[in-house]
Amino acid sequence: MRKFILISFTFIWVLSAQNSEIDKLVKGLLGDTPIEEDLKELCDIIGGRPTGSIANILSIDWGLEKFQKAGVSVSKEAFTMPGLWLENESSAKISGAAEFDPRVVALTFSKGTHRTGLRGNLVDGGHGTMDDFARLGENAKGNFVLVETDELLDIDGLFKEYADAVLIEDLAYKAGVKGLVYMSSRPMRLLYRHNASRSFENSLPMVVMAREDAKRCLRILRNDKSLSLLVKINIREGGPYKSYNVIGEIKGSERPDEVVIIGAHLDSWGLGTGANDNGCNVAMMIDIARQMIKLDIKPKRTIRFALWNGEELGLYGSMAYTEKYESQLDNHVMAMSVDIGSGPITGFFTGGRPDVLDATNKIMNSLTDLGMFTNIDIPLVGTDNFDFMMHGVGNLIANHEPANYAPNYHAESDTYDKVNLQALKHNSAIVAAVTLIYANDLNIDIPRQSRQDIEKLVESTDLEQQMKSMMGIWYQWIEGKRGR
Ligand SMILES: [Zn+2]
Repeated sequence: MRKFILISFTFIWVLSAQNSEIDKLVKGLLGDTPIEEDLKELCDIIGGRPTGSIANILSIDWGLEKFQKAGVSVSKEAFTMPGLWLENESSAKISGAAEFDPRVVALTFSKGTHRTGLRGNLVDGGHGTMDDFARLGENAKGNFVLVETDELLDIDGLFKEYADAVLIEDLAYKAGVKGLVYMSSRPMRLLYRHNASRSFENSLPMVVMAREDAKRCLRILRNDKSLSLLVKINIREGGPYKSYNVIGEIKGSERPDEVVIIGAHLDSWGLGTGANDNGCNVAMMIDIARQMIKLDIKPKRTIRFALWNGEELGLYGSMAYTEKYESQLDNHVMAMSVDIGSGPITGFFTGGRPDVLDATNKIMNSLTDLGMFTNIDIPLVGTDNFDFMMHGVGNLIANHEPANYAPNYHAESDTYDKVNLQALKHNSAIVAAVTLIYANDLNIDIPRQSRQDIEKLVESTDLEQQMKSMMGIWYQWIEGKRGR
């Protein structure tokens, strides 16, 4: 059914397209391209690629080579990551009223334990609210606190999960806990990784425990029995090191100094193979650039294709780009991130900017043969548009039907088989068309915002709250270390 719709879109498009360059590019991308093969190489052969890992280094060279082979001018651009954190392995043992080995994984930035592990009593932390910690009182101190979570069903749940974690972790620090144990928010003993909310400042051992194992612990604890937890967290830590973005470029024919930049992050978590997050859209960037060269499409403005790195750990690669190219940002017309998986694109988030909304609405109205789209004018934190937004550059994030994005998010199950390949190809055509129109329509004018404008945006939206759920980021912004 989907295939049929896709094919018919292609034909309708050919009949009704007004712009032959866009028509050519869309057709090219909907036709036979190596996008699936590229994605298989990235996910199945290279695999999960947390920044700082060997697989991540391999993926940088892989991306570089893909652009080179396509004839796209490309470079590896170095930046400094603040520190290294990689998990070697983690394990846990429950003893006391029951004995079993729950599945656990360390949160990123978790403190490691001694080789022989760290032992403590496990206590029932409820949902980790202020009331829960008040009820625990002195009982939280020096113990492992197990926090119950709601099952994650969608992206709203994900934002809540992030926001809750900041409060829970603050309370845990204040209570002087030995360590924090989150119940996995996904059933079927699925594990995933998040960042500890204090990022590199985190100093507590923190793990996610399989949902079923954590529920078992809670049932026992709530039956007035005691449990003790032995947890071993074996990690590799280190100081600052060099990582790289991969930046491809097709020079503009009329206004080479003006830039439209589109990107997806190359790094992923190590548990799965980073397929929906975000290998599929990395493959999309490469496919679009390759088709543009192959079809000899010459955009009027320069188009850059970014494979960002260090995204999952704090958006470090795109931040480094905005610092390196600060003097060019006045001429950056638009910065787009594609990072919400492979569900069909439904429109774009336009960043709380009526000018970007207006321009994008007009563009999407000219692309009705590719679907019906709704753009949403809210600013979002959490992917590589962020530093562009805080530097005042007009920015877009592709919005998608959620499909299976949330349940597999950052999890062991984010693998090639979860990618909606037909939608991915259709999404490539949409992203390419929007990008090319932004590059070719010289009437589009999205002036860069001043610091004052950006502060107004922060005040008039929930940006502060969003930024606080990635704690490092909020302080970097107010201290003037990040953004304009
Ligand atoms: Zn992502």
